[in-house]
Amino acid sequence: MQHYLNYIDNQWRDSSRQLTIMNPSTGEAYATIAQADIEDANLAMTSARRCVNQGLLTDVRPAQRLTWMLKAAEEIRKITEEAALVLCLENGKNLNTARDEFIEAARYFEYYAGIADKIEGISVPLGKDYINFTQYQPMGVSVQIVPWNFPVSICARSLAPALAAGNAVVVKSPEISPIAMTLLFKAIDKAGFPQGAVHLLCGKGSEIGTHLVKHSETDQIVFTGSVPTGQRILKDAAERATPSVMELGGKSAAIALADVDLDTLLSSVKSGIFYNAGQVCSAMSRLLVHHSRYEEVKKAVVDLAQGLSIGIGEYNPDLTPVVSKNQQQQILQMIESARQEGAAILTGGNAPDLDGYFVSPTIIEASHEMSIAQQEVFGPVLVIMPFNDEEQAIEMANGTDFGLVAGVFGEGLSQTLRVANKLIAGQIFINEWFAGGIETPFGGVGLSGFGREKGQEAIYSYVQTRNIGIRLR
Ligand code: NAP
Repeated sequence: MQHYLNYIDNQWRDSSRQLTIMNPSTGEAYATIAQADIEDANLAMTSARRCVNQGLLTDVRPAQRLTWMLKAAEEIRKITEEAALVLCLENGKNLNTARDEFIEAARYFEYYAGIADKIEGISVPLGKDYINFTQYQPMGVSVQIVPWNFPVSICARSLAPALAAGNAVVVKSPEISPIAMTLLFKAIDKAGFPQGAVHLLCGKGSEIGTHLVKHSETDQIVFTGSVPTGQRILKDAAERATPSVMELGGKSAAIALADVDLDTLLSSVKSGIFYNAGQVCSAMSRLLVHHSRYEEVKKAVVDLAQGLSIGIGEYNPDLTPVVSKNQQQQILQMIESARQEGAAILTGGNAPDLDGYFVSPTIIEASHEMSIAQQEVFGPVLVIMPFNDEEQAIEMANGTDFGLVAGVFGEGLSQTLRVANKLIAGQIFINEWFAGGIETPFGGVGLSGFGREKGQEAIYSYVQTRNIGIRLR
């Protein structure tokens, strides 16, 4: 079994404690990793602060940051094939999805390399006696806490714009799936970033996560994960009023209008809820269907779920295991509670008879108020419900505490757009779930969080605004 290390102050560092990482497809131990402790976290924070104070990322021409970032992208592309297999084995995910994570990580570095030398200020006219301008300064030391569902691409999603803007970054990986992230950092290590610019710590959220959040050198917290953890971090961050970006969960609805094209809808249902075994913050976890098409769509969606191939990630099936036994049991428990509340399990609802932590593709007919239609499941579980008219569909779609993404499926542009305009979510898809990309701003409203990642917009999550006024004499 291979043993992996933390990356602190440009060195690979072991620890007296270690975590064992399981392969969710077999339930067997896959690798070990050094478990970072408080001393490791302090070393990383001191080194990051030194990097900021010495201006190692900022007292250079912006094109220098661009060069480092492009080199990082090049190195990430070189390791993609080999590293994707590692991610597939430690996380259970489809090999193609794992490969896409590394490709996406490289793309984030390329995309934000292109912005590193274009973060410009604004001149504010105040009459002939003044020169006034606004600057966008880096935040300083950015602490970034990453979840396990897309550990590599989500890490790069925050790390790349933060570096482009000139921040030093301390990343905490998820304890369930941290190995592929060490490979990402091996590639980044070769890019030549200055001493202390990037650090990777694998350790327990409740220990070093909390410590980093409360640390006196933390200038920003970027958290991607569940609502309860986000709420807890916000309470800790409040002690020092530390600026935070919160990318949290969702219970996103697709609305299928009366004139929906069934094939278009089905291909989006397949990727929307079964991609990555439904462990996607922006998963299509609710499908609201116009009553005139409800029975037809319900049957088609059940047929789709029953026709999916299920297997281990290396063979690229439609559905892979979920990440851990704990996750599997939590999902099955939520399905059982739905059954007890009176929801109908149309298909799935169990663990198939396979080694590994699988959950069968599940379609549940529920009513809007039931917990299964309100709470995030984070698994391959779709709730389907009928609606009578546009107004009711909008009310149901907006009727949870979340607001990450939403979707509308229908032929008429004016109706789909009219509905989209009334949906409360950070990103809205028409006629294709996941119709965005790394170029389009992403983030939530309500319990789905605040702050934006992706696109040019994200750069504003990694800078602070400073205005300078000069009185001419
Ligand atoms: P999680 O349990 O909240 O953990 C996320 C990260 O927070 C992990 O690195 C975890 O460390 C750390 N953590 C736990 N307690 C902490 C604390 N007290 N202080 C600081 N850090 C702490 O979430 P998850 O189960 O990994 O991820 C699934 C959730 O993430 C879902 O709700 C999903 O919707 C959401 N998500 C959101 C987005 C988005 O962009 N909006 C993207 C992906 C996922 P440990 O691993 O050591 O516990």
